[in-house]
Amino acid sequence: MSMDAQSVSEKLRSSGLLRTQGLIGGKWLDSYDNKTIKVNNPATGEIIADVACMGTKETNDAIASSYEAFTSWSRLTAGERSKVLRRWYDLLIAHKEELGQLITLEQGKPLKEAIGEVAYGASFIEYYAEEAKRVYGDIIPPNLSDRRLLVLKQPVGVVGAITPWNFPLAMITRKVGPALASGCTVVVKPSELTPLTALAAAELALQAGVPPGALNVVMGNAPEIGDALLTSPQVRKITFTGSTAVGKKLMAAAAPTVKKVSLELGGNAPSIVFDDADLDVAVKGTLAAKFRNSGQTCVCANRVLVQDGIYDKFAEAFSEAVQKLEVGDGFRDGTTQGPLINDAAVQKVETFVQDAVSKGAKIIIGGKRHSLGMTFYEPTVIRDVSDNMIMSKEEIFGPVAPLIRFKTEEDAIRIANDTIAGLAAYIFTNSVQRSWRVFEALEYGLVGVNEGLISTEVAPFGGVKQSGLGREGSKYGMDEYLEIKYVCLGDMNRH
Ligand code: NAP
Repeated sequence: MSMDAQSVSEKLRSSGLLRTQGLIGGKWLDSYDNKTIKVNNPATGEIIADVACMGTKETNDAIASSYEAFTSWSRLTAGERSKVLRRWYDLLIAHKEELGQLITLEQGKPLKEAIGEVAYGASFIEYYAEEAKRVYGDIIPPNLSDRRLLVLKQPVGVVGAITPWNFPLAMITRKVGPALASGCTVVVKPSELTPLTALAAAELALQAGVPPGALNVVMGNAPEIGDALLTSPQVRKITFTGSTAVGKKLMAAAAPTVKKVSLELGGNAPSIVFDDADLDVAVKGTLAAKFRNSGQTCVCANRVLVQDGIYDKFAEAFSEAVQKLEVGDGFRDGTTQGPLINDAAVQKVETFVQDAVSKGAKIIIGGKRHSLGMTFYEPTVIRDVSDNMIMSKEEIFGPVAPLIRFKTEEDAIRIANDTIAGLAAYIFTNSVQRSWRVFEALEYGLVGVNEGLISTEVAPFGGVKQSGLGREGSKYGMDEYLEIKYVCLGDMNRH
């Protein structure tokens, strides 16, 4: 193992944060048949750990323990739950460096970005620790004088949370924070590619006082774990972040038991640069929106739409900025671009680039695997991309920025909306009137105006069209874990 990675994993092991067993009913357990899966460092290919490879039986036990824990956890006062969550937040922040190191080890993103993810991920726990105390009901003016009408908000019950590898911590806390705050209990299934961060976060949750069974973590055989969660009548909600294809399968499988479903799926974000944009702001914003996590986020700019009058100037300035990005191991100082998650991801990017070039697009910089080898890919800018190329239609999920030319504002809106996805969009313009016209017309759940990094725990995150259902973060994110109960008190005029 490379020196940095080795010393980091040794330190993590001795601190008790490098866990390899699943968490069921408050106990750390191996898989029942002792099967394991290997977790790799994508920057080096080296094996970091063998973790338990769990399936149906372990998941059923996790569901049972979650179901049992629900009775007591949901009956605590909001203030009591809030205190536990606040302690968890404090512990996540106290271990920010180690958790960041774990993220870099198993996911590859640069350490600074990884520590940023810890702060972002922890912010959901802090936010929902506060929000727990604000789950208000309602009293409705009655329709008849002898009645009183009330609305209560109550926790849904056991939640199954399935999460991806690109944000190994934040995609979990965005679900578990509001779930626990509202009184639900949770079975989390992290990606088999990045289970270590989830397990470390769960260890800190136990230390914070999250009771046995309220938070379980099982990982391994995804279809088996998914089926167990989906078929169980005790699981009342499925919350999923991941690809649109898997999300659709889960949504269909949730139908027989009529579960509440939240889906955070793939995007195809346009970053629209108008002639009247500030060039520096547009370059900086698009760079941030495109290249964070080496292009592996659902809100990454997937298509850069640039108006005729600024196209050449933008292409030059943007390419110069991209040229300065530093590709390397996430533990190396100065690295801004880590590796892609695995070879399949690189092959996908290669296919998309070949397709674009074969149909007439031109590579300005990059366009191939990086000389570092492994799964490193050169930050790439491609011009003259058109709507018949795969990269205009599908998520690239890599460090490739396709530039698409447009003439009018109407063209930009039409091209931007010409996709089944509807997660994030970005616009760059100095006109207030134009920005209103365009953000109102965009069929997207999130819009950044002159800003490329817009996610925060205090604002609702989620997509429209085939990018998903429901919202995470903010006060709206809490509603996903609550049922509304209407109570009618009759015969109220009797003395
Ligand atoms: P993925 O392949 O859909 O996997 C996501 C999760 O689903 C993983 O835990 C995976 O397990 C699990 N899974 C796969 N097949 C399953 C099945 N049949 N039943 C139950 N679970 C199953 O997505 P990914 O490649 O990890 O993540 C990238 C995708 O996530 C992109 O499309 C990205 O846009 C999207 N994403 C969306 C958001 C958002 O907020 N909208 C945020 C981040 C990412 P294993 O990994 O263990 O196989």
